[in-house]
Amino acid sequence: MRKHHNPLVVCNDGFTMSVQANDGAYCKPREDYPDTPYTHVEIGSPSSKPVTLELLERAELFNTEDYTQTVYSYVPVEIVQKEIDAHQGLAEGCLPTHRYRAFLIEPSDFKPNMLIQYKGGGYDGCFWEWNYAFIAPDSEFVNLGSTGSAGCDTLEELEESYENKKEGDFFLYDLNDKKALTEVPDEISVDHLIGVAGKLKEAGHPVDFQPQCCKCETRFSVEFASPHNLVGIGGIALAHQDILCEDCAVDNWEETESDDGHRELYEDA
Ligand SMILES: [Zn+2]
Repeated sequence: MRKHHNPLVVCNDGFTMSVQANDGAYCKPREDYPDTPYTHVEIGSPSSKPVTLELLERAELFNTEDYTQTVYSYVPVEIVQKEIDAHQGLAEGCLPTHRYRAFLIEPSDFKPNMLIQYKGGGYDGCFWEWNYAFIAPDSEFVNLGSTGSAGCDTLEELEESYENKKEGDFFLYDLNDKKALTEVPDEISVDHLIGVAGKLKEAGHPVDFQPQCCKCETRFSVEFASPHNLVGIGGIALAHQDILCEDCAVDNWEETESDDGHRELYEDA
């Protein structure tokens, strides 16, 4: 199906711009649903002249000096983020996603063995708390964690919320497909992965997700995962950025115990 337009990006200071990526936009990869995330996107019609030099340099300016009525081609996503940051962060909208699983034609397409990631109530600013639900093999609705105004306790509520969805609000992972065992850990945050895996197990539907260790880069069972590298996100919350396998977690613990080991750890990085 034809990809939807990415909704308008609105920043906290009121600045807006169109940010698009699809098979007709000046983006890389130039596809509707590529296998890998977009590295470059197309920007159009900013509400005022962009403030970052890197973005200004990418204006096409066909016969015009007006920076608002023009297109910015193949803009690296890092530069888009820099411009958003310069406008006090994202208030509404999101960067275009390459993931086709965000789109279903009918809510009835929710299927058994589907993990659903959807936007919860959200806080002010750019940080959104994700909610998770699971459709069990017997079609039972399993709430894996819902917070905020958009949290859903039943499938009916979720279907209703789906009717009013925006692009990027929903991601669906078909756990019948073995690819999901690596895709889910690669796409969702470490703390959410460990939470979702625990709740699924508790509900009697264990799933052997295979995250990749950030140190030795092997895939291993989520059951033996150690969260690693705690950082602040948006000044609102703390989250782990990385995941370690059992062996690397032990090594890491031993290395940080001695000064020598500590130094080695940093030389590795
Ligand atoms: Zn490891």
